[in-house]
Amino acid sequence: MKVMKFGGTSVGSVEGITSIKRIVESAPKPVIVVVSALSGITDQLYNVAAMAAAGDENYLAEYKAMLHRHVDMIPQVIDDTMIQAQTIDTIKELFTDLSNILRGVFLIRDSSPKITNTIVSYGEALSSVILSKALKGAEHADAREFIKTIHQFGKHVVDFDQTNHLIKERFAQLSNVTVCGGFIASETQTNFITNLGRGGSDHTASILAAALGADVLEIWTDVDGFMTADPRIISNTYVIEKLSFSEAMELCNFGAKVIYPPNIFPIFHKKIPVVIKKT
Ligand code: ASP
Repeated sequence: MKVMKFGGTSVGSVEGITSIKRIVESAPKPVIVVVSALSGITDQLYNVAAMAAAGDENYLAEYKAMLHRHVDMIPQVIDDTMIQAQTIDTIKELFTDLSNILRGVFLIRDSSPKITNTIVSYGEALSSVILSKALKGAEHADAREFIKTIHQFGKHVVDFDQTNHLIKERFAQLSNVTVCGGFIASETQTNFITNLGRGGSDHTASILAAALGADVLEIWTDVDGFMTADPRIISNTYVIEKLSFSEAMELCNFGAKVIYPPNIFPIFHKKIPVVIKKT
């Protein structure tokens, strides 16, 4: 089996979702698809949380823009009218919950880290539902149920014992295609919603691939791959065909942003290859 991760730009437009459908439908099964929030949505969610906490009523306009962006894309990526209607209902329900939380934040003029984590989790909760309905026969998995974190030295870190155990339990029977949101998690002790930090969807994908002993982890992106330098600055750069984990780490220290090696550390231990692919 393989784990395929698609970032926010891939899932952020109708064309992007159409490409994902083509790629996933032609892949050998079973696959687990890990998806980020629609491009820009995580930033927007952090922003609306801050606006509501500051008592800025304009948070509502931002909220409505996010609602429309998600709902408007559904009829364009889902053909079946029944599934379209069900998906619109599910997405609207999620948005109603989000609006209630934001209203509370606005009224008390405060958003604790716990509440902000809950607010930003909607990005991947929404994108993963839409993609799971857009991919025929796909199942949806909620990462908050099996990616577990503990609070250590002021940040949420993965509780690998619990996480690996829960992943094995959840995926004991693998469907052909399972779609799961990246980034989002929950705390082992309390079940409060947490996350793996910005760009954390690669981490989710890598944790899943390692726990399930995947043959490969594919990171689908909109760049050609690891290059010798930033092509926007240096003209004669080229894609590096193959590199080791430590070489990737070194390039990242010099500014390469394709992947952040600490995020894919779990698969490094298991010697699972990572393939960077362009959507
Ligand atoms: N949506 C999250 C972020 O923007 C996680 C991710 O995209 O990997 O950081």
